[in-house]
Amino acid sequence: MAQLKAIASAKIDSFKQDLIAVSSDIWKKPEVAYEEHEAHQNLTNFLEKKGFTVERSYTGIETAFRATFGSGRPNVCVICEYDALPEIGHACGHNLIAEAGVAAGLGLKAVLESSDAPKGMVTVLGTPAEESGGGKIDLLGNGAFDEIDISMMIHPAPYSILKPIFVKRMHLKIKFASKTSQDNALDAAILAYTSISHMRQQIKTTCSIHGIIVDGGCHPNLVPDKSVMEYEIRGLTTSDAHALYKRARTCFEAAANATGCQVIMDNPCKSYDDLNCNSILADLYLRNVRDLGVVDIQETKFENGSTDMGNVSYAVPSIHPMYKIGNGEMYHTRDFKSVTNIPEAHSTTLQWAKAMAHTCVDVMTGEGILDKIKQMHTYHNN
Ligand SMILES: [Zn+2]
Repeated sequence: MAQLKAIASAKIDSFKQDLIAVSSDIWKKPEVAYEEHEAHQNLTNFLEKKGFTVERSYTGIETAFRATFGSGRPNVCVICEYDALPEIGHACGHNLIAEAGVAAGLGLKAVLESSDAPKGMVTVLGTPAEESGGGKIDLLGNGAFDEIDISMMIHPAPYSILKPIFVKRMHLKIKFASKTSQDNALDAAILAYTSISHMRQQIKTTCSIHGIIVDGGCHPNLVPDKSVMEYEIRGLTTSDAHALYKRARTCFEAAANATGCQVIMDNPCKSYDDLNCNSILADLYLRNVRDLGVVDIQETKFENGSTDMGNVSYAVPSIHPMYKIGNGEMYHTRDFKSVTNIPEAHSTTLQWAKAMAHTCVDVMTGEGILDKIKQMHTYHNN
């Protein structure tokens, strides 16, 4: 097993300059959710040249891709993200996530080509629109994870965390429409806003609900016949968020009843689930990253954010470790962007990418490990 890990690491080292170049190109040309055309092109061309079977615009999502090598099971999946933030570019370092996914994929391909190759295959999955849109939710819906046994990705951050806590996030759109010319739809929105603000005093401290009025009428001379609100609900777990969603619904319905309006609530379909880290997989990752010389890594930490990897983590056993780059700059800032394309960040990314490849080697070669990981997954989901 150690020999296979050494093969993966050596391959990643040998492609270091190419990997940095791909990542730098993505960083220099930031593209936002679902518009990552050049990143998609760069990554798929690169993987194809390196001998992967590449499917561009995978499952009909223009900027998604799948690159595979090998066949059969287990099918281990390493995930790339590559979308940027509007205005401030790669201030979340997704260029590094792409670099890590491709690096781990190359390492595993070398393992599968070696004389001691284990059974199975590697999938490098290109998942667009993490920052907004939830590309992984689309991919899940299209069956992209159906044949996958485990999945993993790593994310740069101001600190290193093995099992970060990401919360469940639901996005709601609420429309009030008056039934007669006398019903005031803005009143309905104001009532709902006030009810929810009062309710907020009696919710779990780990939950939150906040919203805005997007449309409150067009002229003071006219009784507003429609109004539109948008809300976000966050909870530590999916069930916490759903419980809060139910309470919020009653506020919207009561406001509609009181004002004689009709309420239409879109289903919060593309909500981000909390992150369900598989602890057996995480422990394997920890051992591997420590063997590579990383010492400073916290077990867990509450991140007041969300990721569409949460949804994946409920479908297949997954991990999403975060690793320190820079000097404490917080992500989603211009300061963080300034450290996502520097030599130190690339080196750290490749070190942590090796640990992904090594963890996949453990899963592919370790007697009974995959079964244990899957048992833990089923146990946690029930
Ligand atoms: Zn991010």
